[in-house]
Amino acid sequence: MSNTLSVKERMSIERVAMPELPADLRSRNFEEVNLGLSHGQAVQEARRCLQCKNRGCVAGCPVGVSIPEFIDALASEELPRSAQILRRDNALPAVCGRVCPQETQCEALCVRGIKGEPVAIGYLERYVADWAMSHPELLQGDQAPAATGKSVVVVGSGPAGLTAAGELARLGHAVTIFEALHDTGGVLRYGIPEFRLPKDIIDREVALLTEQGVVIECNVIVGKTVTIAELRSDFDAIFIANGAGLPVMLNIPGENLKGVYAANEFLTRVNLMDAGRRDDSSTPIIKRREMAVIGGGNTAMDCVRTARRLGAERAMILYRRSEAEMPARVEEIKHAREEGVEFVMLTAPAAILGTADGWVSALRCLKMELGSPDESGRRRPQAIEGSEFELPAGVVIDAIGTGANPLLTSTAHDLFLNKSGNILIGSEEESNIPGVFAGGDIVRGGSTVILAMGDGKRAAAAIDKYLKRK
Ligand code: FAD
Ligand code: SF4
Repeated sequence: MSNTLSVKERMSIERVAMPELPADLRSRNFEEVNLGLSHGQAVQEARRCLQCKNRGCVAGCPVGVSIPEFIDALASEELPRSAQILRRDNALPAVCGRVCPQETQCEALCVRGIKGEPVAIGYLERYVADWAMSHPELLQGDQAPAATGKSVVVVGSGPAGLTAAGELARLGHAVTIFEALHDTGGVLRYGIPEFRLPKDIIDREVALLTEQGVVIECNVIVGKTVTIAELRSDFDAIFIANGAGLPVMLNIPGENLKGVYAANEFLTRVNLMDAGRRDDSSTPIIKRREMAVIGGGNTAMDCVRTARRLGAERAMILYRRSEAEMPARVEEIKHAREEGVEFVMLTAPAAILGTADGWVSALRCLKMELGSPDESGRRRPQAIEGSEFELPAGVVIDAIGTGANPLLTSTAHDLFLNKSGNILIGSEEESNIPGVFAGGDIVRGGSTVILAMGDGKRAAAAIDKYLKRK
């Protein structure tokens, strides 16, 4: 069926709302919160798109997905074509449709957003990607490429590594991924909880890669199990995408008390090891009535919503600025609030207090006010004199950020790093060592899934050029 609506008819369609699990039910389980659009809703939403000549949405997408084209095919109910267009541009569309901050990227530049609500590009991406996953028989497979005889090793199986591996395999190179953990996906699996990104989505994306011939070896810590020098002699090129998972500590008294977690440890225990979710999990986690999370980004939001699901009656988020400055996605903040999370804003921890036998019992906090803007453009928080107060908490989770883990880079002394330990690269994603490329969080510091994927895509193209020259 062709999609022949006039502009006026398109303009009269209202933006679809994402169906969700009710908050009282979901705040006690790990089921996915967003349920996905029905076919009718997706087609209707696709018909809101104006097919603009000046495609703001594409300019706003870090990997340049052909957004109007895949939406047009969906509006005409040509789903195989829509899926083909989407997958051509984006290696992990079912992931991006769920976790990308579309409100600050493609949707922020959608023409329909000028006078009303932008097209729900993320919801449509998710719909088409999920449809493609459940209808593989209706999609044309890529022709197997001729083998080039060249080999590439990818360090890390997060979004940067997975994307690079897929692109390189498509070009006919033999690709091996070495992953330190016992499972794939990086932050997608150990960081982002199942209520936002179900694990079977990652499993299916990874299965597509292994079907393309990518070899994945888990439990290989590059820098320990094998060195970069050894990889250089065994492979024709290296792509380092080991992320930035080293916690930034609060550096306040009491951080060594029992019941204090770094966000990545807390999330990894729950997401990767099933701690606190299954009675037979061999990895313990401390659950308490009051659990406090410090930070204001997506990681903090994931921790506090997880704490709530583990049974905390008071799952609290402490942030030193106000809600308007929180870097977390608007949707996460909305969902957290609906689920009963307490927002303790304009508050900074000064110390973690404990019992005589070393368990966390409370946070000593200071009330803050906002002063003039700092280097980031956000108003600087300042402590209000005499505002000290105590907040009872049996668990404290530090979610203020992460940095580069030196485990790999400290064994590759000739690799140039910046002062934060991130790998320095040139315009073609290549480090100072010929044939050693890098991308994702290990280069950028903490960033986003789609930016890491964009790095993986560009690195794959640069590696291909390098291998052809070699
Ligand atoms: P990672 O995803 O960190 O993957 C790196 C991989 O390398 C890991 O699997 C790691 O185990 C492996 N590795 C590390 N060292 C070694 C070694 N020495 N040898 C072998 N393997 C190694 N972004 C969004 O866009 N939307 C969100 O909603 C969002 N939510 C987030 C929530 C949390 C809790 C966190 C922590 C981040 C979130 N982000 C989000 C950011 C996003 O997930 C990251 O920017 C992205 O995952 C970076 O991708 P990467 O491939 O560079 O690294
Ligand atoms: Fe469609 Fe919005 Fe992109 Fe225009 S800017 S083509 S309306 S998604």
